[in-house]
Amino acid sequence: MHEVPTVQGFLDEEGRVRVWCRWCVEWHRHTVADPGPHPLGRGVRIMGHCHAKDSPYLDGYRVLTSARPWRAVRGSVREASRAQARAIERSLITPRIAELRTQIVSMQ
Ligand SMILES: [Zn+2]
Repeated sequence: MHEVPTVQGFLDEEGRVRVWCRWCVEWHRHTVADPGPHPLGRGVRIMGHCHAKDSPYLDGYRVLTSARPWRAVRGSVREASRAQARAIERSLITPRIAELRTQIVSMQ
C-alpha cells in the first residue's frame, strides 16, 4: 500500500474521531476500531468518507488524534450547506466552495 496523507483528528463526546476534510468541506466522523483508550498521537490509518472526487483522501489517511477535544475546534470552520455538498459530489466547485475549502482548523 502506498503512503497516505496524515491528518489531525479530534475526539468527540461519543469517543469518535472527527477529521476536517477541506475537500468535502465537512467533518468526517470515524469509529476507530481500536480497543481501549484512544491512542493519542498515534497514527491510525482509516478510509476517508469523501464524496469529493478530487479529494486526495479517497485512499484513506493516517489520523493523528489531537489532545484537544473536537468541541474546542469544531466552530473554527464552516461546513458546506446541503446544496454545496451536492455540488461538491458532482464536482461543481463554485468560487464560494473554493473559498470554503481554504479554511483550516484553528487550534487557538
Ligand atoms: Zn472528504
